[in-house]
Amino acid sequence: MADLQKFLKEREENKGGNRINYNSDIYPFWNMKVGETATVRILPDMDDENPFPFVEKLEHKLMINGKLENIPCPKMHGDSCPICELSQEYYNADDEENGKHYYRNRMHLCKAVVISDPLPENDDGENFEGKVVTLQLGFQIMEKIIEQLGTFFDPEEDALPWDLIEGYNFKIKKTSQGKGHPKYDIGSTFERSSSPVPKSVLKDLELVDLDTLLPEVAGYDKINELLQAHISGGSAEDDDDSLSKKKKKSSTDSGARKSASRAALERLSGDDADGEDDDDDGTEDQTEDGAEADSDEDDEDLRQLVAQIKRSKGK
Ligand SMILES: [Zn+2]
Repeated sequence: MADLQKFLKEREENKGGNRINYNSDIYPFWNMKVGETATVRILPDMDDENPFPFVEKLEHKLMINGKLENIPCPKMHGDSCPICELSQEYYNADDEENGKHYYRNRMHLCKAVVISDPLPENDDGENFEGKVVTLQLGFQIMEKIIEQLGTFFDPEEDALPWDLIEGYNFKIKKTSQGKGHPKYDIGSTFERSSSPVPKSVLKDLELVDLDTLLPEVAGYDKINELLQAHISGGSAEDDDDSLSKKKKKSSTDSGARKSASRAALERLSGDDADGEDDDDDGTEDQTEDGAEADSDEDDEDLRQLVAQIKRSKGK
């Protein structure tokens, strides 16, 4: 009987195949239960000139040979992308459904220390508490962080929340909107009083170049091959020859890449040299790992924030 209960409990905990990978560097806070809270401390960039220690991860999700593949999007580095182009063509043809389907998902990545972790301990009696992890944040949490940066903190007086000594922990609270859709923007918040990063973490802490968090991006031609494999294997999307035509374009020289963190910051500050318009209609779908995907609707807020941080840095 005890065994059965244990089995059922484990089954419940692992529902949806979301088995927690304790060896991963990515903190799977979305596995916590509704009502639970994880406390994290976002860490600064290794480059202390960067006031905004997040990088944008852009990726497409396509079914290829019956498997859902994540394909990192070259736009992360300001390079052109055949899947984004296809998405744009659909949007231009007023086909929002396909436009959205091919649109890139956007998440923000940063480094953080887990201060308190509601996830169950693994067989070695450990969870993520006290560990330095990569946080993968979707639209809801990023919006909350941006909003609070603008309202909560006085750039003239307060340290940035990621200051190692005078910064602020961030609480991620999972709530539910019903229908099993998790919400993170209702209860999540920076703590009201500042605290240092725990000494036990500080003494061995190595800050990283945030660009190293981003996945490697294949060249244009390789991605186009994957796209063609998806289209030829698919059934719903390949009935329109004008849109599913093979794109011929040579891959962009990767030597021209700029730092992704720099590129993200430039996009946020509105001096995007890319020239292409990111006039997406957003993708707010749940990604498979439970983190929410992103839209560009918050760009205006982000721009204001970055300008504000820049001002306070430059005083
Ligand atoms: Zn793309």
